[in-house]
Amino acid sequence: MGSGARETNRLTNGEAENSLHKQVSPAPAALDNSLSDASNAVTDPDVPAKRARLQKELTFQDMYQNDGVFDEDDEDDSDWEPFQLPKCVEFEIKKWCCRNCTMTNLDCYDCCDICGEHRESKILSHGFFASPLAQDEDLIEVHGDVKGLKDVGSQESVANSSTAIGFDERMLLHAEVEKKSPPHPERPDRLQAIAASLARAGIFPGKCYSIPSREITPEELITVHSLEHIESVEVTTESLSSYFTPDTYANQHSALAARLAAGLCADLASAIVSGRAKNGFALVRPPGHHAGVRQAMGFCLHNNAAVAALAAQAAGAKRVLILDWDVHHGNGTQEIFEQNKSVLYISLHRHEGGKFYPGTGAAEEVGSMGAEGYCVNIPWSRGGVGDNDYNFAFQHVVLPIASEFNPDFTIVSAGFDAARGDPLGCCDITPSGYAHMTHMLNGLSGGKLLVILEGGYNLRSISSSATAVIKVLLGESPGCELENSFPSKAGLVTVLEVLKIQMKFWPSLGPIFVNLESQWRMYCFEKKRKQIKKRRRLLVPMWWRWGRKSSLFYFMNGHLHEKSK
Ligand SMILES: [Zn+2]
Ligand SMILES: [Zn+2]
Repeated sequence: MGSGARETNRLTNGEAENSLHKQVSPAPAALDNSLSDASNAVTDPDVPAKRARLQKELTFQDMYQNDGVFDEDDEDDSDWEPFQLPKCVEFEIKKWCCRNCTMTNLDCYDCCDICGEHRESKILSHGFFASPLAQDEDLIEVHGDVKGLKDVGSQESVANSSTAIGFDERMLLHAEVEKKSPPHPERPDRLQAIAASLARAGIFPGKCYSIPSREITPEELITVHSLEHIESVEVTTESLSSYFTPDTYANQHSALAARLAAGLCADLASAIVSGRAKNGFALVRPPGHHAGVRQAMGFCLHNNAAVAALAAQAAGAKRVLILDWDVHHGNGTQEIFEQNKSVLYISLHRHEGGKFYPGTGAAEEVGSMGAEGYCVNIPWSRGGVGDNDYNFAFQHVVLPIASEFNPDFTIVSAGFDAARGDPLGCCDITPSGYAHMTHMLNGLSGGKLLVILEGGYNLRSISSSATAVIKVLLGESPGCELENSFPSKAGLVTVLEVLKIQMKFWPSLGPIFVNLESQWRMYCFEKKRKQIKKRRRLLVPMWWRWGRKSSLFYFMNGHLHEKSK
């Protein structure tokens, strides 16, 4: 696990200092050190003799009774008979990687130490319906989860469906060639687990319409990326394995997968804008929101959301909203549109003063060159952010700005790495939280909504979250109200900070800021008053308090005494 944690922390999108790896690393690291010591011990030829000696000379009593034990020639132990090691020391340390969260576990445990998933979990065939304890005899395997998806568009039952899905199994070919332990978190299993969940839920195939896949053309890509970038992605087909950054890999199929992902997003966008589909979900990879004009980074090759936004505009949408709820800031998308008033980019992400990957996305980054206010960053100052803070930010920042902007088309850069259980994001959004956010966005742009998969690395979390989102796209209710709609103190401070900056550009935010700020001042005033009272209580001498109480007692008693007379 220790080496695994180091391995993943090396990833720049793994956010060495932020990820769960760090949270869980100390104990496993210690364990691993002891294990590596054990491994070293096995390889050290002197160890059997030393171990035998240690066993023999264990007590102080023995040492005192055997004065000659530690003589000058003690180092020369060539005359010692080799000691037969017990079998338990000789074994090779075996580990396994959790299918659900990729974490490395010791062979002696059957369930993942981090997420509890069984090592034989059938999550890739059953999706999140698979039991985490691998007892799924009653579930019939869904073989059509991936291979059958291409044909669902022709099915009679889905011919009139209004929700379109973009998927092509060739995107599963994009994978890191070098087999690592733990594996790269952005792995083909992600799509497979979501597809299996949708199949088992009867959503896809079943209720959704599948659009034919298409590779994006260089002419379309050049409107988003530089020629050098496009060529740098294409050239990866010539090598078995290559890297754009230490965490952004490519194999011979990556360029094709990236072209398919972008092509599917473009076609979904134009299908929705033109009314051929009501809304859609792009089940695509590699993800895109870190890919900027000139660079691939953070597991992203082509910026799928940017391609979709421009395709939507080509199909007639004048104003496009991109809402990015991936736990990381979409620095690529921001860069592409920061001078563009026709595309409003709103991102909610962990920022922590720039310490969280990729470091951009401060509230002060508002756009430039006349497009100030068309970039809205809601930067959380800590991890663990949950439904309550996201809901609060939606109600007080996202929806007011989006309503004022009045988009014709809405794109969600839907990373599910802020979901509860994600090993990189370490936040706490539930599937219900994602469903509610989708429901809120559905009220904009006449419901013309395209959800594009970005990050998300816990298969169970991304599958259940994506399914909850698609159910809302299909018209289902997001369910009961969220349990806790009050923001955390840190969440409220972030929202106030964003409102203060953005109210210069969005007049509807003014009254919201004034109202929230007065509530915040009241809270601070009350808190300070309580603190002062507490401090005073501590400062008052004990004898005075007791004296005061005893005078009261005598006064009361005296009064009663007089009354009885
Ligand atoms: Zn796990
Ligand atoms: Zn992410």
